[in-house]
Amino acid sequence: MSSIFSKIIRKEIPADILHEDDVCLAFRDINPQAPVHFLVIPKKEISSLADLEKDDELVVGRCLLVASKVAAEEGLHNGYRLIANTLGDGGQEVPHLHFHIMGGRKLTWPPG
Ligand code: AMP
Repeated sequence: MSSIFSKIIRKEIPADILHEDDVCLAFRDINPQAPVHFLVIPKKEISSLADLEKDDELVVGRCLLVASKVAAEEGLHNGYRLIANTLGDGGQEVPHLHFHIMGGRKLTWPPG
């Protein structure tokens, strides 16, 4: 399913992009919930973590490597949280697989 993130990938709407390569994109969340809050998405249209296929192994691996690299560049040396809200019960609003990376403050657990 095409979503607003496809428009960001195609540069049809602006985003504060932190990393881009042939497989994925990292950009700041428009409604940050922590001092540092960015998203990493695959360029491939994958709706959610629940829709991964075997061929997506390298795509997801790249996304996690990018998350780690950008987190370090953003100065999150004390740690951070990576979340993939998935489908309805997971609170997913945008139907394009994305990893939230949040840090820069002490995060509480569990989430709501
Ligand atoms: P989720 O509930 O996991 O689907 O979260 C979607 C996230 O995308 C939210 O944190 C939104 O603030 C963020 N978001 C939605 N539209 C944009 C946008 N145009 N640019 C950056 N982040 C966005």
